[in-house]
Amino acid sequence: MNLTLKNLYDDFRDPKTIKALAELITQEAEKLDRPVNIMEVCGGHTHTIMKYGLKQLLPEKIRFIHGPGCPVCIMPKERIDHAYILAQQPDVILVTLGDMIKVPGSKGSLQQARSQGADVRFVYSPLDALKIARENPEKRVIFFAIGFETTTPMTAALIDRAEKLGVTNLLYHINHVTVPEVMRELIDSRDEHIDSYNNRIDAFIGPSHVSVIAGAKIYREFPERYGRPVVVSGFEPVDVMEGVLMLVRQFTQGRCELEIQYRRSVTMEGNLSAQRQIDKFFEKRELFKWRGLGNIPHSALKLREAYAHLDAEKVYGEQLPVEEIEDHKLCICGDILRGMAEPTECQVFGTACTPSKPLGSCMVSSEGACAAYYKYGDLLQRRSDR
Ligand code: SF4
Ligand code: SF4
Repeated sequence: MNLTLKNLYDDFRDPKTIKALAELITQEAEKLDRPVNIMEVCGGHTHTIMKYGLKQLLPEKIRFIHGPGCPVCIMPKERIDHAYILAQQPDVILVTLGDMIKVPGSKGSLQQARSQGADVRFVYSPLDALKIARENPEKRVIFFAIGFETTTPMTAALIDRAEKLGVTNLLYHINHVTVPEVMRELIDSRDEHIDSYNNRIDAFIGPSHVSVIAGAKIYREFPERYGRPVVVSGFEPVDVMEGVLMLVRQFTQGRCELEIQYRRSVTMEGNLSAQRQIDKFFEKRELFKWRGLGNIPHSALKLREAYAHLDAEKVYGEQLPVEEIEDHKLCICGDILRGMAEPTECQVFGTACTPSKPLGSCMVSSEGACAAYYKYGDLLQRRSDR
């Protein structure tokens, strides 16, 4: 028999296994004397929870809170405006990944910039930006880099390759963000506003792709310092359910630990050579503004001073505005990203705001909470009506 990718996934999506895990969680949860709120930090987990109806399989005492783990969703309008303005500079090709081109900034989305004549290109791999730069030596190519720890090594590899090949017409606008700092922000209250929601989170499901690179060690402080257990889980439904079971067992057994469910790829230390390459090109920013969360210290990366000549934020500094921009007044993405609201609580969810015409960022990326609710909400309703 030929082994296909589907064969590899099937066991991790097997309905019988998912139901058996749901039963084990239910039995274990009966021992709890209070409900447990679990934040799944990453939108990849939110997508799985919605797609496979995992919320509906869990007992009432176990609740999911959706977190801010989507690089598309958390991008503030100011940064999207930067991309929009850069794309309209003479002789510039702006290159970016994923759903970024659909996110509305205050001037419009990159898609709109493109319809007005700007050269905006969407790529699947950062290395494609190098190809575009080499094919267009008379232009300046700007790579608008986004993503958590998972994608940062790819941007580092792009810079490294471009340097080695002597490519000089490729610049970078760096928007790489880091997970532990935002988790800390959600718990470690710095002001009264944040204090109003931090106590809702009892435990975390940690994103596994981030830990493949950075190691599970980045979450150590949460059980040790904040008393919140973390289980680093994969993205398949069986992974998420096993992660939930591991967390519930920690509560019933009186433990508070960092555990790895996704043992097939995650270690405590992570990928050390990727970490070294990231360190070669990047350093922490003092502050980075997250949509809905405001400025979070040390929660993002920037190019090191030695690479300032490649930094589009510096090269085009005079054209790029610095003032803060409010979100659309009806959009509650901020509350959703803080785990304070569900998408269906938004007045314009599914009416004025849909994936084809998003008002806010959470409706854009397929892993954004609003997009996941929009796509799978009917399915869940039909299941609950049965
Ligand atoms: S785009 Fe994303 S949600 Fe959105 S996530 Fe990716 S890594 Fe997590
Ligand atoms: S439904 Fe649209 S407008 Fe409402 S919170 Fe989600 S993205 Fe924002």
